[in-house]
Amino acid sequence: MNLFIDFGGTHFRYCFDDGDTITLKSEDVELVKFIEIQISLKNINKVFISFAGQVKDGKILSAPNIKIETLDINKYFEEKYNIEVLIENDLNCAAIYEYSKYKNAQVLAVFYIGTGFGSAFVIDGKVLKGKDNIAAEVGHIPFKKKPYRCNCGRDDCLELSVSGKVFGENSFENSDEDTKKDFLDGLKHIFHTTLNLFDPDVIILGGGVVKHNPFILDFLKNEYNNSSFKTIRSDLKIFISDVEDANIKGLQILSKGEKCQVL
Ligand SMILES: [Zn+2]
Repeated sequence: MNLFIDFGGTHFRYCFDDGDTITLKSEDVELVKFIEIQISLKNINKVFISFAGQVKDGKILSAPNIKIETLDINKYFEEKYNIEVLIENDLNCAAIYEYSKYKNAQVLAVFYIGTGFGSAFVIDGKVLKGKDNIAAEVGHIPFKKKPYRCNCGRDDCLELSVSGKVFGENSFENSDEDTKKDFLDGLKHIFHTTLNLFDPDVIILGGGVVKHNPFILDFLKNEYNNSSFKTIRSDLKIFISDVEDANIKGLQILSKGEKCQVL
């Protein structure tokens, strides 16, 4: 059977083929040990991992919000257990699922605002990957200098203004005016940059901050009405994702062998 894992900054979710999804706290899980225990308990053929960090060719390149020691996870399980591990960036997994619902879209963008700002693009049916599999990280476009560093190494990323961590213990509502203004200005910047670079047909929103602040949807629709070239732009579909586990659903699509179409 297949083991599907969604390893996020906050939650660790997993399931087997058609079984229910179990959620743990990411900080309580050591990924390699977890998989080894599952291998000892069940007849696992293949492991699919959606990972909140940068990965390339089965190797973890960077894991800003996750503690992990074995970076070449693919090689490790191949050599020790002869089990194949497919690991992909979490937003790319979500994009694969969302694209499965909008296969006519020429450009589909996915924005998840949670602990960080995650994004992915599917262009003509393919996830945009770039040479290091880190394309489409619009959350790291320079925006406003902050007195602390982003996990990517800079101190002025959009993500430092547009993500759940800027509210600390507060919600958007309870935050001070500067924080709110930065958040909305940054979001606007991401949105118009995306429109002008990619001219998307569909934008899917997700993540905890969007879930708790659904006004973001109307905010962006309103921005679209005031966008450049508005008179020649056709309809843009902007939705909030209808599922909580798009990452796992994306992995399940990959497991069915549709890999070459989307990756
Ligand atoms: Zn950054």
